[in-house]
Amino acid sequence: MRRPLQIGLIGGGIGGLAAAVALSRRGFAVRVFEQSDALREVGAGIQMAPNAVKVFRALGLEAPLHGIGFQPQAIVVRDWDDGREKRRTPMQDAEGRYGAPYYQVHRADLLDMISAALGDTQLELGTRVTAVSSTPDKAVVTFEGGRQEAFDLVVGCDGIHSLVRRTLHGAQSPRFTGTMCWRALTPVEVFPSGFVPPEMTIWMGPLGHIVIYYVRGGRLVNMVAVRRTKTWVEESWSVASSAQELGEAFPHVNADVRMLLERAQNAFKWGLFDHDPLPFWSRGRVTLLGDAAHPMLPFLAQGAAMAIEDAFVLAQVLADEPDVVRALQRYEAARLPRTAQVQLAARAQGEIFHLTSPLARLKRRLGLDRLAGSDPRLLNRDWLYEFDATAPLPRGA
Ligand SMILES: Cc1cc2nc3c(=O)[nH]c(=O)nc-3n(C[C@H](O)[C@H](O)[C@H](O)COP(=O)(O)OP(=O)(O)OC[C@H]3O[C@@H](n4cnc5c(N)ncnc54)[C@H](O)[C@@H]3O)c2cc1C
Repeated sequence: MRRPLQIGLIGGGIGGLAAAVALSRRGFAVRVFEQSDALREVGAGIQMAPNAVKVFRALGLEAPLHGIGFQPQAIVVRDWDDGREKRRTPMQDAEGRYGAPYYQVHRADLLDMISAALGDTQLELGTRVTAVSSTPDKAVVTFEGGRQEAFDLVVGCDGIHSLVRRTLHGAQSPRFTGTMCWRALTPVEVFPSGFVPPEMTIWMGPLGHIVIYYVRGGRLVNMVAVRRTKTWVEESWSVASSAQELGEAFPHVNADVRMLLERAQNAFKWGLFDHDPLPFWSRGRVTLLGDAAHPMLPFLAQGAAMAIEDAFVLAQVLADEPDVVRALQRYEAARLPRTAQVQLAARAQGEIFHLTSPLARLKRRLGLDRLAGSDPRLLNRDWLYEFDATAPLPRGA
């Protein structure tokens, strides 16, 4: 019997753990190195769109996902000034329409669910990687303190500030988008009974938008609020904010949105930075996955979904192709175009959300932007949700 491939994954976020599950299901020997002392996700919601759910289904994790997820009845777009409904996409039949349901979950619940499926995978917490390198027959990881270990393959799942990406591409300078983002997670009982509908609502206004949806079976209301700003804010998730600050940041909203803002709890804020797609992800036996490979703006809610798709495809190509370097070429050929398309579409969605030209804003307000036949408020997402990363790869890919 052949020795199983020894794979080192750097980073135990959603991407790294999804990769650990997908790779270990294929019989590879996987070790995950995570710098934090515990597996941790921020207190916030995350949407698992049908394309991500298809991967969990293929990994045998759809039932636990269903157990932790909330299924919205619709995605509804409203104007935040007068509250009028502008567009409604029913989501009850996401299975029929896209081939899998749509879930909204608490990030910590999602991470727990994936880590419960790790099986024999070795997870090494409190282990910070300081360097990676590749030779023709091995990839070498250096840890804080100087210890080194060799693997057949090393995958940088180390997030938006990836060390592995820096090793492959040098330091990069993402562009500040001029937008700031808040997140908040509020117990539902803080609001009047029935006040928050079982839908995802996107409240849109000039130069900003606010997304509201349930997580944890409808016990918590998740908010992501975005607006343009001249103030520079750091690219981190951990700067505390408050309901008062939220109220001040969005002064011209209707009474419903005002209540959502003024009663918000567990609020944090950060700046949104934009990264261009990378020209390549792999060198020798080292590659990238998730935000390390394709950091993207959150406006299509697809960053983690892309990491989950990457995880499945990486495991699939390694199972099909014994030569690691050739397998990485196939991985990149299959994944880089799709993720680059999503990165650029997320950027375009941000521009539509936050129209800066007064004429474009006036047209939207008067509904003239819809007369052209298509509604540009939300880019069409069917191509995103219909995609099935678990389908056999086309020949030659
Ligand atoms: C406001 C907002 C809303 C979003 N909503 C959605 C959504 O609804 N749906 C969706 O699919 N996506 C969403 N995303 C995107 C999603 O959050 C990310 O794409 C996803 O979390 C990335 O996962 P990752 O595992 O690649 O990176 P991370 O979660 O950043 O994990 C990287 C891990 O690597 C570890 N690490 C880093 N460096 C080292 C090192 N040197 N050594 C060891 N360990 C290291 C870190 O500690 C961390 O645990 C959203 C993003 C934002 C900002």
